[in-house]
Amino acid sequence: MDYDDAVVGAGPNGLTAAAVLARAGRRVLVVDAAPTIGGGARTDSAFGAGTRRDVCSAVHPTGFVSPAFADLDLTAHGLRWLLPEYSLVHGYGPEHVLGLARDRGARDAELGREARAWERTVGWAGHAPGLVADVLNAPALPRRPVAAARFAAAAGLPTAALVRGAFRTPPVRTLFAAVAAHSARPLSAAGSAAPGLLLAALAGSGWPVARGGSQAITEALASVVRAHGGTIETDCPISGFEQLSRGARLFFDTSPRVLRAVMGERLPAWYRRRLDGFAYGPGTCKVDFLLSEPIPWRDARYAATATFHLARDVRQVVVTEAEVADGRIPVRPWVLGGEPTRIDPSRAPAGAHLAWAYCHVPAGCTEDMSAAITAEIERCAPGFRDVIVGQIVTTAAEQERYNANNIGGDIGCGATSLTQLMRRPVVSAVPQATPVPGVYLCSAATAPGGGVHGMSGYRAALHALAADRP
Ligand SMILES: Cc1cc2nc3c(=O)[nH]c(=O)nc-3n(C[C@H](O)[C@H](O)[C@H](O)COP(=O)(O)OP(=O)(O)OC[C@H]3O[C@@H](n4cnc5c(N)ncnc54)[C@H](O)[C@@H]3O)c2cc1C
Repeated sequence: MDYDDAVVGAGPNGLTAAAVLARAGRRVLVVDAAPTIGGGARTDSAFGAGTRRDVCSAVHPTGFVSPAFADLDLTAHGLRWLLPEYSLVHGYGPEHVLGLARDRGARDAELGREARAWERTVGWAGHAPGLVADVLNAPALPRRPVAAARFAAAAGLPTAALVRGAFRTPPVRTLFAAVAAHSARPLSAAGSAAPGLLLAALAGSGWPVARGGSQAITEALASVVRAHGGTIETDCPISGFEQLSRGARLFFDTSPRVLRAVMGERLPAWYRRRLDGFAYGPGTCKVDFLLSEPIPWRDARYAATATFHLARDVRQVVVTEAEVADGRIPVRPWVLGGEPTRIDPSRAPAGAHLAWAYCHVPAGCTEDMSAAITAEIERCAPGFRDVIVGQIVTTAAEQERYNANNIGGDIGCGATSLTQLMRRPVVSAVPQATPVPGVYLCSAATAPGGGVHGMSGYRAALHALAADRP
């Protein structure tokens, strides 16, 4: 069968593109190198029957507010969001905890005398009408230019400068610094605050999990594709142009490297140079835990969140990201993790509990960081080691073997430097469009970047459909 559109890669962006195209009546084929669909949104039973482990993404602040997912009405295709009371809980030590509640009143009460500063710096962006959609649609012209300009001015700052200028207390400085450090950038780098501003603003809408695991997002997207006659094939790595349906429009939910290799000299030299110069970020080492009991935190707030951050102080976050940027394995990394079975008990049989945690490491690192990660959780939850029944470590090098988009273990498919926030991978209102008509790069390597929100695929598909209109 001939197809109108071929999508290489069945990650959230590829499937979103395919869903939009199929819904518009195009004959769509999606192919993926892996044996299962979903890319960074997959769930498996690696801990045994009845367990649902999120292999990669686990928490979905951007997916929950994604205009693409709303347009595709994923809830009508089986997706159920589970929203915890706390978007995030930050642990400084066993007894010292700060929760970022979804409810404004509860959040303000926790932040105390920093509540107004938090709202002025971060919170406002979460409820400024249309701003989140503008940020996720970037770099398209914003519908709310004044709010977008205010957001961009703060987003361009180094995190270190932002926390010093905005907050007075060390715990709140640390709270924001760790959220911003999702970007895996040195905190002194211009633009390192950007991801933090968006994620922190979304604390008000919530940092949910998908019931049954992140695979539920993938299955909902695939359901839209199939409902409109699209075809999805797995175990199908694409390495050459001749593998692709002739005449079909092409959507690459891949790294720029794959686009470059497959299209070769069909791409103009200036664009090939841009793809060759695309920079990737550091890696991530993730540990999944099977537990006999929930993590023995001393603070009840951990029971009402899907996400925890652990760092004693700003210095721990600063030093971790500086070490990683220097190519060194962090000695005492700050840690990001979650316990999905707290919010979604359906993910493990009675008596079993799941948790995960990761830290940043240099690109391509083969180091197993489980000892350092376990030590950090144990520091904040004494007795943690006693409840571990099993663990699976995925080093940065293994992240790339699992999914070719995670180059060097970079889970965002591209560094989030200030340059690449603006030029991802080109400066254009639709950076997904390549110079070759009908060929798109629609992965997280294009704006708005990493995260399970489908916006790159969405924008590529809408652009292609608009090009069809007379
Ligand atoms: C450990 C980890 C934790 C994360 N945590 C979160 C989180 O909690 N929340 C969140 O929002 N995001 C998280 N992310 C990031 C998120 O998963 C990604 O940003 C998102 O999946 C990107 O979607 P995508 O469609 O662009 O690419 P991907 O999801 O990476 O999918 C790309 C697909 O393309 C396929 N592919 C690549 N090359 C080829 C080829 N040559 N031929 C055929 N197929 C190919 C791959 O097999 C893959 O299926 C995490 C990622 C990782 C790895």
